[in-house]
Amino acid sequence: TKVTRDAIIKDVKESNVRFLRLMFTDILGTVKNVEVPVSQLDKVLDGKMMFDGSSIEGFVRIQESDMYLKPDFDTWLVFTWETESTKKSRVARLICDIVNPDGTPFLGDPRTNLKRVLKEAKDLGYSSFNLGPEPEFFLLKLDENDEITERPNDNGGYFDLAPTDLAENCRRDIVLELEDLGFEIEASHHEVAPGQHEIDWKYADAVEACDNIQTFKLVVKTVARKYGLHATFMAKPVFGINGSGMHSNMSLFKNNENVFYDESDERQLSTEAYQFLAGLLHHAPAFTAVTNPTVNSYKRLVPGYEAPVYIAWSGSNRTPMIRIPASRGMSTRLEVRSVDPMANPYLALAAMLKAGLDGITNEMTPPEETNDNIYDMDEAQLEQQGIKSLPTSLHSALKALKKNDVIKESLGNHIYTNFVKAKMVEWDSYKAAVSQWEKDNYLHLY
Ligand code: ADP
Ligand code: MG
Ligand code: MG
Ligand code: MG
Ligand code: MG
Repeated sequence: TKVTRDAIIKDVKESNVRFLRLMFTDILGTVKNVEVPVSQLDKVLDGKMMFDGSSIEGFVRIQESDMYLKPDFDTWLVFTWETESTKKSRVARLICDIVNPDGTPFLGDPRTNLKRVLKEAKDLGYSSFNLGPEPEFFLLKLDENDEITERPNDNGGYFDLAPTDLAENCRRDIVLELEDLGFEIEASHHEVAPGQHEIDWKYADAVEACDNIQTFKLVVKTVARKYGLHATFMAKPVFGINGSGMHSNMSLFKNNENVFYDESDERQLSTEAYQFLAGLLHHAPAFTAVTNPTVNSYKRLVPGYEAPVYIAWSGSNRTPMIRIPASRGMSTRLEVRSVDPMANPYLALAAMLKAGLDGITNEMTPPEETNDNIYDMDEAQLEQQGIKSLPTSLHSALKALKKNDVIKESLGNHIYTNFVKAKMVEWDSYKAAVSQWEKDNYLHLY
């Protein structure tokens, strides 16, 4: 680790930290917090803080509920935002791994599970698996009772500037906050839909990148509230306009060299890049349940809103599920465009890494690149080119997951079982609900 115990103790004194927030992520991707006063610092740093695992959905049964929080010192952060109550005393956080009472890692913890899959990449000789995420989100107005409305905070469009882009101050504040927390922000812009934004920062090794996504969401939501806005990472919050994705740029490094780059190839891509790509495409139907984990996710994956619908790749056009951005050298990467920000990043990365590694170990070959606009093809053309659709509902995605041992293995038995159980409950509840669309279309007709 880079941050030592002594450095943390020193920082606590110098920054006047009074509260420690111990964070972890549950199976559904929700950040959980245990806040303790700084008097507990030693206990925290020793990994002796306990919590009741049975109170977290899908973690453990009541009879085995005592779990320990083992902080990752490298995730030490002193929050910079100043609210009235924290002006003099600050709050710091540590992201924790979850440990069983007997000291073994708890495999139901998504972060621990990602480390397990990363170990497989390390065993194959890869020193790091990098992720550069591009999360999109909406800023929606709150009404006089602080209830969330469907009204976007502005009517701006792609790369618009103020005054159309009323969120500019809010977004700028978010960026400043993130920079204070050590994020290297690469871009921040208004997205295509009204009230929609994107902020991009520098890629990092998988676990750190996922930690960053969780921190990012927390910062965005917190700063937005200060502006009387609600930030949502829901994939398709409003019908008729673009949904929010989280394009995931990925690459493998070996000794600080990008293994996806190969000067001698016509596209300057290595054999491993093609194999990783082939693995991603092959396992896409099964990992979609993880990268697009809600009923609502599938309302985004429809034609007409810049979101992918078909399992295809391209080096030049932006419509397919996987794009290979033009940058080469250290920036050579595959961009999976189907992922949305409702995904648990730790699980999504474990599943996609496993898919790609399976492509490498089985020396898979990707199908032909698709450069024509897929949306202009009719069914016969799609069939002839062997282009399949991504799952069109959570239910069909779960069916594909259940049939795929590689992706199941990427989650491990504990997470797989609990994830599918929770998602089937979600699907069954949705299936039985009667929507406004049905009322609008059927009530007067039948
Ligand atoms: P787009 O052109 O799709 O809008 P962006 O410029 O918004 O892409 O985001 C690109 C992302 O890719 C950034 O997060 C960047 O840090 C990341 N990236 C750059 N090089 C690599 C790499 N080698 N591996 C993974 N991600 C990378
Ligand atoms: Mg982008
Ligand atoms: Mg860009
Ligand atoms: Mg975007
Ligand atoms: Mg992108």
